Amino acid sequence: MSLSGKTAIITGSNSGIGLGVARALAGAGANVILNSFTDNDEDHALADEIAKAHNVTARYIKADMSKGEECRKLIEEAGACDILVNNAGIQHVAPIDEFPADKWDAIIAINMSSAFHCTAAALPMMRKAGWGRVVNIASAHGLTASPYKSAYVTAKHGVVGMTKTVALETAKEDITVNAICPGYVKTPLVEAQIPDTAKKYDMSEEEVIEKVILERQPSKEFATVEQIGGTAVFLCSAEAAQITGTTISIDGGWTAL
Ligand code: NAD
Repeated sequence: MSLSGKTAIITGSNSGIGLGVARALAGAGANVILNSFTDNDEDHALADEIAKAHNVTARYIKADMSKGEECRKLIEEAGACDILVNNAGIQHVAPIDEFPADKWDAIIAINMSSAFHCTAAALPMMRKAGWGRVVNIASAHGLTASPYKSAYVTAKHGVVGMTKTVALETAKEDITVNAICPGYVKTPLVEAQIPDTAKKYDMSEEEVIEKVILERQPSKEFATVEQIGGTAVFLCSAEAAQITGTTISIDGGWTAL
């Protein structure tokens, strides 16, 4: 399958799942736009490395996904958007009565509202091209909850709702809108939670992975960024053209519980 000639924009893609999805889409022939809120040499070097490895064009565009106008500017600056992967996300864990309001606002903005702004800006480009794919990176927490993650669970449920709504608005066009719902994937976002949790429960980091993090993942294995990337590529394929407005779980059985 070739996505040659298509332009894919992946928000929050200088690390983790976003970077894995960008590599997979480039591997399928798409030109890719990488993004984060930083503007380091390493960010641009990642784009150069992907371009060389896959013989596609790759560009890094700095834009802060916590700000609506920067989300829209990212899409405009890219100049084309056939595939939009709304991936940027952060996490903060605290009981709701202690949850810092600024963290709540940031999680809602980056994990949910950025998908609204980017999708709104990208849809006219997809309509003009007569083809488009929106892939939202939601989470198992878009379908189920865990304590102390109120902002994250709220944002991810919101993304799943937005996925269904936009799929209905585009149902008669060659545009699909779906959400991938990963369980735990070992990325910097998850790795950052391990030392604190180990301290909190007086456990080794290995015990935290097995007994706390993967407690709800029946496979007892992390999902991988390659698996998320491969699923995103499939959702962009002709075979997936009638898959729209739905979620695909990659969670080792978590949401079957
Ligand atoms: P990560 O920390 O490795 O990556 C997050 C990305 O978002 C980074 O590239 C970061 O630079 C970017 N980002 C953060 N704030 C931003 C901002 N203001 N503007 C632009 N970019 C910003 O984490 P990850 O695990 O790869 O997470 C990616 C997505 O996958 C998130 O939406 C996350 O909620 C989701 N997810 C992750 C897991 C997991 O277990 N890792 C599970 C389910 C869903």
